[in-house]
Amino acid sequence: MLKIGCHLSNAKGFLAMGQDMLASGANTCQFFTRNPRGGNAKALNLKDITSFCALAQKERFYTLIAHAPYTLNPCSKDAHLREFATRIFAEDLANIAHLPAAYYNFHPGSHVGQGIETGIDYICAMLNQVLTKDTKNLVLLETMSGKGSEVGGKFEELRAIIDQLKLPEKVGICLDTCHVFDAGYDIVHHLEEVLAEFERIIGLERLKAIHLNDGLNPLGSHKDRHAKIGQGQIGLPALVQIMNHPLLQELPFILETPNDLAGHTTEIALLKSHYQGQTC
Ligand code: FE
Ligand code: FE
Ligand code: ZN
Repeated sequence: MLKIGCHLSNAKGFLAMGQDMLASGANTCQFFTRNPRGGNAKALNLKDITSFCALAQKERFYTLIAHAPYTLNPCSKDAHLREFATRIFAEDLANIAHLPAAYYNFHPGSHVGQGIETGIDYICAMLNQVLTKDTKNLVLLETMSGKGSEVGGKFEELRAIIDQLKLPEKVGICLDTCHVFDAGYDIVHHLEEVLAEFERIIGLERLKAIHLNDGLNPLGSHKDRHAKIGQGQIGLPALVQIMNHPLLQELPFILETPNDLAGHTTEIALLKSHYQGQTC
């Protein structure tokens, strides 16, 4: 069954977010756990969460994606910023455990000139500190565009993170189509080869979600600029091919395209019309 949705705001609460999901024709979605620039999380409104859980059950929502603030940098040079990232990460995991099923997606971080290996060591130190056998939500490392000193622009870097984890079973991958294209993986002309490389280096069993975005810039540009579906360099046919690929078609697809709710609703309907599996 097609699992599709877009990035939504939960500023008005989870129930309001669930209503936006329904309005856009979605059965999953992504939201920021707090202001994307970091800062304090709002206190949990358990009544709102209970209402949302009831709606999610009634409407059979699929696993949601909680996105960490993108300023969280577990491999910062500054020890205080690394500690801050660790604290936010642990707090977010404790909070989202109250929601219906959700993955916790995060950007591995930027090593800011310390070198990729040091960056990876710091990221693993945080994950090894925070993740326990009791961690309920699967954590997803997002594939990155390799902009600046970002860690995660190469499949090998994500593999190296997983290899250093005490509890690797708690971690999966979210593949962002714009990011991998920007990182130089040609999912437009060589999707089979890219998936084979993912399988060889990371293993497709780790792949848990797709950020389905078009990209503004050409292959390998390392820019990370998302475009509306069909209006970028990846294009609708390639995105449709990804959505229908036998190895990918059961994954959740989240749109992070520059749109308001009406724009996302149109894109979700467009993608549904091209899905070759069951849509509901
Ligand atoms: Fe992201
Ligand atoms: Fe993304
Ligand atoms: Zn991005």
